[in-house]
Amino acid sequence: MNAHRQFIQASKKKAFDIEHRNKLKYNISQYEKSFKKGLSNYDNIELAKEFISTTKGRAVENLSELLIRFENNIASRGTHVIWAFDKKEALSEIDKILQKHQVKMVVKSKSMISEELDLNHFLEKKGVEPVETDLGEFIVQLEDEPPYHILTPAMHKSKEDVAKLFHHNFGTPPNETPEKLTAFTRKKIREKYVNAGAGITGANFLVADIGAVALTENEGNGIMSLAFPKVHIVIAGIEKVIATTSELGKVWPVLAQYGTGQQLTVYNSLITGPRCVDEMDGPEHMYVILLDNKRSVLYQPEPQKKALECIRCGACLNACPIYKNIGGHAYKTPYTGPIGSVISPIYRGTNFDHLATACTLCGRCTEVCPAKIPLHELILYNRQMSKKYKWHFFLKIFRLIASDQNKLDMFNSWFKNIIFKLGIYSWGRHRIMPKFEKQTFSIYWKKRLKHN
Ligand code: SF4
Repeated sequence: MNAHRQFIQASKKKAFDIEHRNKLKYNISQYEKSFKKGLSNYDNIELAKEFISTTKGRAVENLSELLIRFENNIASRGTHVIWAFDKKEALSEIDKILQKHQVKMVVKSKSMISEELDLNHFLEKKGVEPVETDLGEFIVQLEDEPPYHILTPAMHKSKEDVAKLFHHNFGTPPNETPEKLTAFTRKKIREKYVNAGAGITGANFLVADIGAVALTENEGNGIMSLAFPKVHIVIAGIEKVIATTSELGKVWPVLAQYGTGQQLTVYNSLITGPRCVDEMDGPEHMYVILLDNKRSVLYQPEPQKKALECIRCGACLNACPIYKNIGGHAYKTPYTGPIGSVISPIYRGTNFDHLATACTLCGRCTEVCPAKIPLHELILYNRQMSKKYKWHFFLKIFRLIASDQNKLDMFNSWFKNIIFKLGIYSWGRHRIMPKFEKQTFSIYWKKRLKHN
């Protein structure tokens, strides 16, 4: 079954699954409450958004220069920087590193880019055990599911679902509290940090002026993933670079506000290289893989380039009426919601062109985006560019007739109702269209004028 059909089927199923919608509604409402509360920390949130947009916009404009500056600075302290053109190259480089250091188990902190690479399955095939250390990722890994949301991977689960899942997998009490389950997971993962041969993390930002990887997280699992194992591998998209540390200081709070409504995320780390001789912890070897994987294609067409300014806060997903109905798994791509609909057809190919239709063009995503990316316009642009959805012959005929009242009046209401019913069938069987009246207003008016 092609990706479009899979999407339609999964969406229909999820949109009518009341339990799923209720869980999603509840979890998004919690986010909305925190977001609203957090807004009180800002006198002028629009100014903060303007800052993010300018900072990221300038970074994208100077991408190659900043990446080279980042590389030179971080490499000067002993980090190996590897440029990977695509998924295949990135995975092959990761494989080489793991083989070189004889790694059999890796601890991973939450990173969407590893989903983009389908890293866990790759590692399993190579005989390396991947352990997700972020609580949400740990939960979805237990269920063998992909993350549901770019920021909150287990957003589709209630606390009761999680308790049942843990009971099934570890024999914990079936109605255990979230606090106890968190403590249980922490203990379970702690031994993995100690025994893992490598830690794999993403990067929220790459800071060019000092050559550092910026990581922001709430659980401390990111720092643990790089502090214990001997090898630290960072996988980062090339668009993650920003120019200066002082910019980062202003971007971090805005990312926290839009991501979770926090004033600042709990742990914010700047990783500048492997452990120095006088340091107590940290990896002995550090690698940064700079991944292109079609980002340079996104760099080309002018309107779509704006999507590279995304800071992956997830706010557009929480605001999107489509996402709120069908959830994250229906998209069948790592990047979901409005930003996913913009970048997936480029990152994953024209098979995902149909995501341009998963949009009501309400513009809510554009309104909330802290990077001021005109998401709904970019989705519309994708729709126009998509070969599949260009005006079909049928639609051209329809436009020719519907734009001329005299031509429309040539057909009787029975015929028009049949045609609309057929059209609607492909658009969505669950929609109800008003019926055409037997007599159109223009015919009625003409008759009336005649009688007068
Ligand atoms: S597009 Fe904007 S709102 Fe959506 S994840 Fe990126 S920065 Fe956040």
